[in-house]
Amino acid sequence: MKKHNFYAGPSILPQYTIENTANALHDFAGMGLSLMEISHRSKQFIAVVEEAQALFKELLNIPEGYSVIFLGGGASTQFCMVPYNLLGKKAAYLNTGAWSKKAIKEAKIFGEVEIVATSEDKNFNYIPKGFTIPKDADYFHITTNNTIFGTEILHDIDSPVPLVADMSSDIFSRPVDVSKYALIYGGAQKNLAPAGVTFVIVRQDVLGKVDRPIPTMLKYQTHIDKESMFNTPPVVPIYAALQTLKWLKEKGGVAEMEKINKNKAALLYGEIDRNKLFRATVPNPADRSRMNVCFVMNEGYEAHEKAFNDFATERGMIGIKGHRDVGGFRASLYNALPLESVEALIKVMQDFEKTI
Ligand SMILES: *Cc1c(COP(=O)(O)O)cnc(C)c1O
Repeated sequence: MKKHNFYAGPSILPQYTIENTANALHDFAGMGLSLMEISHRSKQFIAVVEEAQALFKELLNIPEGYSVIFLGGGASTQFCMVPYNLLGKKAAYLNTGAWSKKAIKEAKIFGEVEIVATSEDKNFNYIPKGFTIPKDADYFHITTNNTIFGTEILHDIDSPVPLVADMSSDIFSRPVDVSKYALIYGGAQKNLAPAGVTFVIVRQDVLGKVDRPIPTMLKYQTHIDKESMFNTPPVVPIYAALQTLKWLKEKGGVAEMEKINKNKAALLYGEIDRNKLFRATVPNPADRSRMNVCFVMNEGYEAHEKAFNDFATERGMIGIKGHRDVGGFRASLYNALPLESVEALIKVMQDFEKTI
């Protein structure tokens, strides 16, 4: 039976990425050696890093003055690296969910943190509006897509101070005006590569402004100066990321991805809104994530939750159980998830409705 992979992360990757990476695990770049056993300083691997950086710049239309680096440590290490490198006195944060909260907790170690707005009062089921970003903050931090609660900021915010964004779970899902951001980071395991590599896109002019000493490995400048080769980078995930970037380019880039993603999300939310058994957890359509669609059993049908989960699992739907903080279901519709899988899930929802 065909499996439909709705995992939130690590999550579905293009078959192209999996096959090419598997092949390189046997023979990388015709060297007769595995990708796992070659020097990261070999000219063949340096070419991989350079091509991945170039494709980041091309696909996201990254202006001059920005660096792209590949690090270890996950997005979670960025929660501390960002304030370590950028927070002099005070930083502003938008609190839109579990990942924002983790980022805020780390920033508080380094200085004053102003929470400009929060949606915690409603279990993060909306994006706060009409907030004011303080002009005396060193930067303003947002989480563009809330993987757990299923909300997403789908436009590029205008900020009077450098804008920093955690884009772990929506990078490359839509065109982004990078010039509006000072720094964008993310773990790769949602939309790009297997776990193990973290990307950082940083405008060089925001660095070097804080007085504190920064440990070498946690200093962005170290990795910029050494082209992500200060220490051994995550070789296999970077190679896989390059394959996904090539696949993205071949598919028509982020503008084309956005069209496909809009359509996939509209179809699934449409079915959730139509089907009497289900209710989307994010009421405002403008705040609904295109990447992580969260839904629960509608009022009066709560008792059928387990039965639906079993029904869907028997039909090949994998990873749709909701995060424990939200309950219900979450279907992640990352770039690599085909329309066919969304259609299959909708069919399962309709078939289950007929049994009730
Ligand atoms: C998954 C996720 C993280 C955590 O990433 P790690 O690489 O596991 O540290 C951070 N932010 C967001 C938005 C995520 O989805």
